[in-house]
Amino acid sequence: MKITKVTPWLVTAPAGARGPAWQPGRQYVFVQVDTDEGITGWGEITGTGALPNRAVVAVVREVGPFIEGEDPTRIEAIWNKIFRAMTYVGTRGITSCVVSGIDIALWDITGKARGLPIYELLGGPVRDSIALYTHFPLGDTPEEAARNVMVPVKDGVRAIKTDPFMPEWSRLRRQGLPGAYLDGGMSARGEQEGADFIAAIREAVGPDVEILIDAHAMYNVPTAIRLANRLAPYNITWFEEPVPPESYHALRQVREQVSTRICVGERLHTRFDFVPVLEQRLADFIMPDVTWTGGITELKKISTLAEAYYVPVSPHDASGPINVLAGAHVMMTVPNFYKLETIRSKMDSYDAFIQTPLDTRDGQLYVPKLPGLGLEMNLDYLRAHAEPGWGG
Ligand SMILES: [Mg+2]
Repeated sequence: MKITKVTPWLVTAPAGARGPAWQPGRQYVFVQVDTDEGITGWGEITGTGALPNRAVVAVVREVGPFIEGEDPTRIEAIWNKIFRAMTYVGTRGITSCVVSGIDIALWDITGKARGLPIYELLGGPVRDSIALYTHFPLGDTPEEAARNVMVPVKDGVRAIKTDPFMPEWSRLRRQGLPGAYLDGGMSARGEQEGADFIAAIREAVGPDVEILIDAHAMYNVPTAIRLANRLAPYNITWFEEPVPPESYHALRQVREQVSTRICVGERLHTRFDFVPVLEQRLADFIMPDVTWTGGITELKKISTLAEAYYVPVSPHDASGPINVLAGAHVMMTVPNFYKLETIRSKMDSYDAFIQTPLDTRDGQLYVPKLPGLGLEMNLDYLRAHAEPGWGG
């Protein structure tokens, strides 16, 4: 079998078939890999905005001809061929994103060729389903947040994640200011507001539902310490990405001065970025994104690294049907799995992209027992919604 074509898709989901209501018109990046035996594999690299999405699509277009003619089941060889070709411009970031999308598609092809789900190729399942944690719309007031959080909880979800400091960012954006992304600070009003939101959410969900806080890598060291300790009394499961990812020293400073557990990893690329986190005991949980960190191949390796340190793995979800399923396949085989992130408890926003809806019940995702990823893309829908000049 040989790879005949690699095709990136940039698709904008219109109203009614998009991501969550608070992210209208979300773009998705999919990667289609065709072979001379008629088997097609699919990957995903969906990023967090138009600029990164277009950047990865442009690089996939260039990398495609570089691997045409290769045997798609030689996944490790192709992974390294692309990765090492990019050494001089940087192997992490866009390179690892492009490797991820192609790697996932190659696992999909290999599973289909062998007639086995990907999790069977990775050593077989250690669990029957994948526990989820989800988001919910925070709303404008603590009372609204307390109502909204009960929607996923009533669906059976036992862990929810939110950023209670978002109202401050919304105010700053309305004033045309960049907020913490520039100086890493947080106003006293924003801090109090965040604590009020979490107090109301904890009161609503009771003691048994886990609350995860996402700081979105926005704060300087003293601000991150202050905010994490402010929320600690509400029994926070983790305080995620307290500082930007470039400095492990800053992360250590925060780590040594907070009483909350720490999670990092969505902005770390490949196993190499996770080595200092594990060796220097900088996090209690890690959260690699399968579509950014190096694909299924790399997520399995990172998980095994973390297993040796007894650190749980909780894959990040940049939000897309293949992202969710690719992470789930790996976690079916990972003993040190915690929970898989999804944007919300019902994943019907992905139904337009795929032929069969994802099976989620009672806060669990059930991975299809079908060859490869176990999903088929809806090509008519993709063609209809691909960005002009950026589709297959
Ligand atoms: Mg995050």
